[in-house]
Amino acid sequence: MKKISCKHMGMEDCSWKGEAESEDELVQKLKEHHKEAHPDYWKDVMSKMTDEEIKEMIEPNIKEE
Ligand SMILES: [Zn+2]
Repeated sequence: MKKISCKHMGMEDCSWKGEAESEDELVQKLKEHHKEAHPDYWKDVMSKMTDEEIKEMIEPNIKEE
């Protein structure tokens, strides 16, 4: 499984963790989470990025387990 958490990405006060079989799926989960929980970050940053760009951004923070 590929895992990511908001803490890994610098959002210290969010305990959300996502896991998925593929990086593409993880990107989708991350996007859904940000739309709901971090609307400002979503609006200012993520909504302007392509899935490919988001994948590159989170790649160093993905944990393989
Ligand atoms: Zn979060």
